[in-house]
Amino acid sequence: MDLSDLTGPCRPGALECLAGVPVVLQDHHTGLLLDQTVDDALGHELGWELRRDAAHAAWLPLLARAVEHLRAHTPVERLIACQDLFWATGHGRMALDATADGGTAEGEFLLHGTAWTRAYGQRLRRHHPADAVAAGFASAAAQVASRSDRTLVAEETACVATHASRCTFRIVPGGVPSGRQVLAADLAEAEPAPGIGNEAIASLHADLRRFTSGLAGDHRGLIEAFDVFLSRPPTNYANAVAHGAVDAIRARSPALVPVVEGLLRECGHRGAFHTLGGVLRSPEWTALVGPIPREREAVAMACCAIARSLGYGAYSVEEIGDDRLVLVASAEFESPWCRVVRADRCPTSSWFMQGAAIALLELATRVDWSSTAPLTDAFAAFAEPAWVARQTESLAVGDAVSRVVVERRPS
Ligand SMILES: [Zn+2]
Repeated sequence: MDLSDLTGPCRPGALECLAGVPVVLQDHHTGLLLDQTVDDALGHELGWELRRDAAHAAWLPLLARAVEHLRAHTPVERLIACQDLFWATGHGRMALDATADGGTAEGEFLLHGTAWTRAYGQRLRRHHPADAVAAGFASAAAQVASRSDRTLVAEETACVATHASRCTFRIVPGGVPSGRQVLAADLAEAEPAPGIGNEAIASLHADLRRFTSGLAGDHRGLIEAFDVFLSRPPTNYANAVAHGAVDAIRARSPALVPVVEGLLRECGHRGAFHTLGGVLRSPEWTALVGPIPREREAVAMACCAIARSLGYGAYSVEEIGDDRLVLVASAEFESPWCRVVRADRCPTSSWFMQGAAIALLELATRVDWSSTAPLTDAFAAFAEPAWVARQTESLAVGDAVSRVVVERRPS
C-alpha cells in the first residue's frame, strides 16, 4: 500500500497526519518503554486493558477515514484495506476473519512482540502477551469493516513474546465505547517559533519529509531503518496510555506520580536519542544532506528538521550551550490531547518533548560523531540522570509555544 496519498501535514506547519488523524514515526524503544511504564504503573492485566482500549479508540477514526479514502466498498474490501494499512504503517502483518459479531485474527511479525523478543527474549521470560496495539487494531478493523456501531474487543490468545509460534486473537462483542480523539480538524496552522537557523531547518525538513513519507512496511510489515523498528501509530494512542498511567497512579499512590512522569520522559529521551541519532548516522542522511555536522548548533538544527519530519512537532532551538538547551515548539503531538480531550488540565505533560529535548542536547554536545561505536554504547554512557528538563510553557493551556528548558542537574 502506498501511504503517500494519505499522509501529509495535518495543517501547514503542524503535525503529520494519516487519513486526517495525527500520527508519529516512532521507534521501538519508545513503544516498548511506554508498554513497560504502563504495566509497571497498573500491573500487566490493567495495563493490557488500558493499552488495548486506547489502541482500539485510536485506530477507529483512522481506519474509518482510510477505508473511505481508499473507496473500499464491501466488508471484505474494507478488511483488506485495514490489514494493508496496518502492514504499511510498520505494525506487522494481520489476517482478520471477522464480522460485526466478532471473529479471529492471526498476526505475523507483530511489532511489539517482535521488538520485545529481539530486545529482551534472550534474557527475560515473559508470561503475558505483548501486542495490545494489534489487539486494538483487530477489534477496530472488524468494527469499521462491518460498519457496525456495536463495540468489539480483542484478546491476544497466543503471542510470540511468550514463545508461541505466532500471535492469535479472539474478537468478541464488548469492551468500552471510544472517547473523543484528536483529529486534524482540531489542530491550528502553526508557523515555527523563532529559533536558531529556522530557514535552514525548513529547507532540510522539506527534503527529509520527501524521504520519511515514503517509509512503509517491508514484506514482514516492519520498517527496519536507522537501527530501530519504526512505525506510524496514531498519536492518540501514546497520549491516552501516558495519561491513563499517570491518572491511575495519582488515584492510588500520588507520591509516585513524579516517578511515572520520569519514565514517560525517559521514553522520549531514549526514543529521540536513538531515532534522531540513527537518522544522522545513516547512509540516507549522507546521500540527502552530506556528512554529519560537527558544530553543536548545526547538530541541533539537523535534529529539529528530523523531528519535524517524523511528526514530533515544529521544534525550534531557542538557545543551546554546553550544559543548557531551550527547545520550543509551535506544535507538538502531546498538547492537543490535553486541550481537546482533557480540557486544559495538564500544562506540564509534554513528557515526550521533555525527553526529546534532553536527547537533543546530548546529541549536539556529548556524542562523538567521528566514532562509529553503536549509539547504544553512547546512550549507556549517559545513564546517570545528568539533566533536569522543565516545561515552562504549554500549548495545552493557550501559550504560544510549548517550551522545555534542559539544564545540568545540580550535583
Ligand atoms: Zn503477540
